Amino acid sequence: MALVVMKFGGTSVGTTDRIMHVARRLIAAKERGDQVVAVVSAMGDVTDDLLGLAAAISLTPPVREMDMLLATGEQVTIALLAMAIHSLGHEAISFTGAQAGIVSDASHMKARIQEVRADRVMDALAAGRIVIVAGFQGLTPDGEITTLGRGGSDTTAVAVAAGLGADLCEIYTDVDGVYTADPRVEPAARKVETVSYEEMLELAATGARVLQLRAVEFARNHGVVLHVRSSFNDNPGTIVKEADETMEQAIISGVTHDTSEAKVTIRDVPDRPGVAAVVFGRLAEQNVNVDLIIQNVSEAGSTDISFTTPKEDLARAKRTVEAVVTELQAREWQVDEAVAKISLVGAGMKTHPGVAARMFATLAEAGVNLDMISTSSIRISCVVGADQAETAVRALHSAFGLEAAAIVAESSPSGRGAV
Ligand code: ASP
Ligand code: MG
Repeated sequence: MALVVMKFGGTSVGTTDRIMHVARRLIAAKERGDQVVAVVSAMGDVTDDLLGLAAAISLTPPVREMDMLLATGEQVTIALLAMAIHSLGHEAISFTGAQAGIVSDASHMKARIQEVRADRVMDALAAGRIVIVAGFQGLTPDGEITTLGRGGSDTTAVAVAAGLGADLCEIYTDVDGVYTADPRVEPAARKVETVSYEEMLELAATGARVLQLRAVEFARNHGVVLHVRSSFNDNPGTIVKEADETMEQAIISGVTHDTSEAKVTIRDVPDRPGVAAVVFGRLAEQNVNVDLIIQNVSEAGSTDISFTTPKEDLARAKRTVEAVVTELQAREWQVDEAVAKISLVGAGMKTHPGVAARMFATLAEAGVNLDMISTSSIRISCVVGADQAETAVRALHSAFGLEAAAIVAESSPSGRGAV
């Protein structure tokens, strides 16, 4: 008998028909002899709708009350799903995050799970019930309701799987798995069979929306193997796990794009020690996240500094930069919101030289101008104009042969020639 955690996202539980479908899927797993825990998101766009309601009342609502509001979305789904299972003649019980023992820190709207006290879930499983847990929410040790950040139900599923020592953590979603690119942009995109935590972290961080970044971190830290698959069919999806030598080794696992960041440039900053420390120190004090940074070659004692930041942090970034320009006596600052970050991710980059050169040549041939570049050992990212994002993704996808099975065994000599 295996213990499985099955997570269903908002689209998968978007209507009462779909909730019935999920109920049947859980019952089928139970009837195969498994112990079944479901983790579910709010139905469809409910979380967005709740955010809209709050925004209609206040632009700066207290974060505690935001969590009180947002946590209701998932509570609707768990109750309906438990009713659906009962209506089909099986035993189920729903739990809020608090009831399921999800203990989090107190940072509202982006809380981190500290511990899962799974006794109540265990008892219900032992009593033969299907257990349904509300995703995306926790309770602080002081008894305050929190939420875990957008997409946080993934993290709940992983944490519950780790806490229960589950044999399997399945993430059911509206796509068949992790793709080599967004299929809406590149129709030739291909489902990847296995991907390492390391690669999945880079993919999630650079725009692949299929898994929440924090969930992947949690899975890696606790060694939870994930199976990302569709809730609408029985096709095998993508396995996310620790890299090992038996794993198929792609040189490039995928190309992602992200239009959620803006570029800020400060012009003619005096070129002396400590200036970057002031700029990025002030931004950090204001909780502005910074991604790519570039500093131009200095001319006549001054230089330009550009960085990218999530658009949701942009209002704070603008206020901070305005003050920094005065403080440092820089000339001016500018914002460009029409940018996209294109990233190529693959563990094979470590051992296959020439990937960056090939990426830049491909983008040049496609007429895509590069604004900024950054790299990690398994990722290369370029900032380009937003209107060139789709061209860039398609050009790279084809240049790196991602539509075909460009996967080669690490030991295979032909692997070298592929890039
Ligand atoms: N309902 C939340 C959201 O839309 C959490 C989730 O779906 O994972 O972000
Ligand atoms: Mg959602």
